[in-house]
Amino acid sequence: ATVAVCDLDGFGTLNDRLGDERGDALLRAAAARITETFGADAFVARLLGDEFGLLLPGEDEALGERLVRAFRLPLRVDGHDLLVTVTVGVAAGRDEVVPDLLRRAELALKTAKRSGANRVQEHTPQLDSTAQHDADLAAALRRGLDRGEFRLVYQPIVKLPGGRITGVEALVRWHPEGGPPVSPADFIPVAEQTGMILDLGLWVIETACADAARWRQAYGTAAPRVNINVSARQLLDPDLPDQVASTMARYRLDPDKITLEITETAVFGGGVALNTVRELRELGVGVALDDFGTGQSSLTLLRTCPVTTLKVDKSFIDELNGTAEQEAIATSLSTIARTLGLRAVAEGVETKEQVVRLEALGYRYAQGYYFAKPGPAELIDVALEQ
Ligand code: C2E
Ligand code: CA
Ligand code: CA
Ligand code: CA
Repeated sequence: ATVAVCDLDGFGTLNDRLGDERGDALLRAAAARITETFGADAFVARLLGDEFGLLLPGEDEALGERLVRAFRLPLRVDGHDLLVTVTVGVAAGRDEVVPDLLRRAELALKTAKRSGANRVQEHTPQLDSTAQHDADLAAALRRGLDRGEFRLVYQPIVKLPGGRITGVEALVRWHPEGGPPVSPADFIPVAEQTGMILDLGLWVIETACADAARWRQAYGTAAPRVNINVSARQLLDPDLPDQVASTMARYRLDPDKITLEITETAVFGGGVALNTVRELRELGVGVALDDFGTGQSSLTLLRTCPVTTLKVDKSFIDELNGTAEQEAIATSLSTIARTLGLRAVAEGVETKEQVVRLEALGYRYAQGYYFAKPGPAELIDVALEQ
């Protein structure tokens, strides 16, 4: 048999616009479209939300593509033509029972949604082992947090010209007992998917605030501002602003000494995440848009999302001594920031030549290996005392 699970897109927003009744009508129209396309052989069931399951006898390799094609034409609902797109996970097998196929198709759909690029994803054994690997990693993360295996390192953010440290970015490190260190690029995505990021994120906020308070004690007004990365999942947690506020209060920290780094994709959809950002701003903490310029909505977002800092992505800084286009982009990003009264921080600066160009282009803040790699808090003390 072949099982497909398909998710309708553009549908959530349509549903809001249409109201529940028409939303139901749209779902019925979608179910009818599937039945029409596959005929009486197909068994169609509505799953959770706007997902449909489709069961066909035999192994049908083209099932996913056929589903996508079936939705090329708009659906007719209440006299309106509505276009929806579908993302599909497919699993086929000769002897497998339907629940197994359904589970695999769901896993394939999850993968398709995450990759964003594929509309259709076939289940492969590789997906099972990735899922298993992620589950193991999530369990190890939980144990690691309980055992205190995480550390924060800090990378200086410097003022241009001159290179004086004005801030630091906290970056988390994991040293599992008895194993090699694991890069945040590997464990942050898993921590996000499993919700572990909520507890890990709280630990990061707590630890970074403790270090910030110590620096404030030691250096007063010369203490660095502290940037803390906050993931999309954390912004969906309505408790986050209270948690940040109470941690800052406990350490008697000035809110303007703390900046939270968020990504465009986290706030792009508006909703809860954007609300959280607004509440955070009301507390007086800074909000930086990380990897700025790499998303699809960078400029539009600045109208709705109250940020204080733009962190211009390394990809724009990399080729500063290269093409005229690169320079034009880097220049306009700094101009936009200045015009809107925001700070622009150039990320991933690695060479002296880049620093010279950045200064010429009007950048006043920079961060990167050229100035310093991330290191333990004590190294920041050493640098500040020089
Ligand atoms: P990010 O926030 O964009 O952090 C910058 C990354 O670029 C860091 O990698 C940093 O070490 C690296 N970097 C800095 N300067 C240079 C340079 O000159 N050249 C090059 N090639 N790289 C440079 P890291 O520490 O491995 O962090 C990777 C990502 O993991 C971060 O990207 C961030 O998205 C995530 N992350 C790290 N710590 C946390 C955390 O505490 N919470 C959350 N939610 N995410 C975190
Ligand atoms: Ca959907
Ligand atoms: Ca960051
Ligand atoms: Ca970044």
